[in-house]
Amino acid sequence: MKIGCICGAVIVDQTDYLAYKAHLVADQDWEDFAESSQSLGEFDQSFVRHCYQCTSCGRLYVDDHERRLVSFVPETTGAQLTLRSIKGAQWKAPLIGTWTIEPIADQPKGSLFCQGADGIAEQYGTWEALEQAYFALFYRLKGLGLLRSALLRKDGTAIHLWPGENH
Ligand SMILES: [Zn+2]
Repeated sequence: MKIGCICGAVIVDQTDYLAYKAHLVADQDWEDFAESSQSLGEFDQSFVRHCYQCTSCGRLYVDDHERRLVSFVPETTGAQLTLRSIKGAQWKAPLIGTWTIEPIADQPKGSLFCQGADGIAEQYGTWEALEQAYFALFYRLKGLGLLRSALLRKDGTAIHLWPGENH
């Protein structure tokens, strides 16, 4: 899903763990949401609406009760990432390394992606360089307690997966 902001920027919602998106449950729905989620054993998504913030102008887009986006302009400028994790810079991020032997168009063969505190999106031309950078970052972030999960894939095959399947 993509939202064209009034300022001209585009808000993209195509992956998980977005720092500019939040899930909203109305106070009037909160108890029903909690009860139904408990009895279902999973979140009752029918109560959940979404909120987005434009990272360019700071505008907030909120789903109303009919799931129509309503926009709000911040009182102060520079109010960025209002909707990010309450853990702030301590948020545990997933790390993903991908090696593709035959990438499409002008995509890189190797890419390393992590949207944690430092936010990394790097490209690599050789498998060795990608592998080295992946493990260096893996051990650094794991040591700092900033890692949620890690996956290194080489042409579709998982080379490294953390935590392992028996955790
Ligand atoms: Zn905007």
